[in-house]
Amino acid sequence: MGGPTTAIERLQSLVRIRTVSYADRELIDPAPFKEFARQLAAGFPLLHAKLDRTVVLDHGMLFHWRGRGAERPVVLMAHIDVVPVEESDTWQHPAFGAEIHDGVLWGRGTLDDKGCLAGICEVVESLLGQGFVPAQDVWLSFGCDEEVMGKAAPEAVRILQDKGIEPWFVLDEGGAVAHDAFPGVSKPLAVIGVTEKGITNVRLSVDGRGGHASMPTRMDTTARLARAILRLDRSPFPSSVPAPTIEMFRRLADHLPLALRPLARNAERLKPALARALVAAGPESAAMTRTTAVVTTLSGSPANNVLASRATAGINVRIMVGDSVSGVVERIRTVVKDERVDVEVVESNEPSPLSPTDDDAFRLLEATIATTFPDAVPTPYVMMGATDSRFFTAICDRVYRFAPFRMTRAQRESIHSYDERIGIDDYLDGIAFYRRLIEAIR
Ligand SMILES: [Zn+2]
Repeated sequence: MGGPTTAIERLQSLVRIRTVSYADRELIDPAPFKEFARQLAAGFPLLHAKLDRTVVLDHGMLFHWRGRGAERPVVLMAHIDVVPVEESDTWQHPAFGAEIHDGVLWGRGTLDDKGCLAGICEVVESLLGQGFVPAQDVWLSFGCDEEVMGKAAPEAVRILQDKGIEPWFVLDEGGAVAHDAFPGVSKPLAVIGVTEKGITNVRLSVDGRGGHASMPTRMDTTARLARAILRLDRSPFPSSVPAPTIEMFRRLADHLPLALRPLARNAERLKPALARALVAAGPESAAMTRTTAVVTTLSGSPANNVLASRATAGINVRIMVGDSVSGVVERIRTVVKDERVDVEVVESNEPSPLSPTDDDAFRLLEATIATTFPDAVPTPYVMMGATDSRFFTAICDRVYRFAPFRMTRAQRESIHSYDERIGIDDYLDGIAFYRRLIEAIR
């Protein structure tokens, strides 16, 4: 029995390894991560022989591929870990089976994010085999804990910073060649994330005297907290349309249903109307227009017959580019309008700065998309989720989030859920994208 010999078999072998991240780091099993490193070395021997490798924290990897020049280094990112598979999720094919059915490879991590990782490695391996030297240094940064707020990525940034490296651009997962992205638009959108919302957690708490539940007072801790929560719920953050969204509508205009074209073409001038339309269209598009804050956890008294001496609510906040953590806290205080409700930041992440779109690096991505996915409309967009690449904004102005794979709506919904899968041809197209990109670096 030999090892994997084709690109598909190599991806299959990596998907079969259960590199699962858990928020409780104690639960993370190091063995699969070691096995992953071993498989990667076996599958991509030239890459491992010719690139300098730095181990980042436990299982992260940073590879350095020397180019003819080093003035404009490029960082290609992906991550090794995957989210857990829930018992209750009904996969059509086993989550770690990497089975192929009708030209589709099924398994956790095929899209998020082993497809990107293996695709990058395929290209490097094959270019090395041809004696190709990239025009600029290329760094490969593979995180091992992206799914649990990433400690490896900031460490990789620190290592690069120590070496004085300022990347020309960074490419990580995020967007995709999204099919059926917009109602009424038949063309796929190649969405490139140019900023991501900041994920921040805030705690509301009300302290009181507690006591026996047989003698309650009015507006006790729980009622006061509930009033604060309702006030927040009734006062969503103001909506607006950020620059990448305006650019997206401008590019989309010709492909939209006729009735919507004037609005899209004049998005800049008609911002308020566009913002209202997006809010009205549903929670997904509403989230594109504003900071969101929602209460996710609640706690009061531990017993039915005891008044809560302390009632707390956890608020998950997704901060839009243009807003800030301090601005959000200030607004929450204003809306809650109650001095006895304490507002405290538990975890603080600012939104990522905007990466430029009128720029050579962005145009390089667009051109590579145009060649590889000629039917797609490339466009910048605001990412709702978080990626490891946000840490790289500390050393690079051009951080782009795009996985070069076609994804249907069902496939996008399968990420972090069940039935995650990638088309074999789509995977091969993704490899072609990375190859063209590396060859086109100047
Ligand atoms: Zn991911």
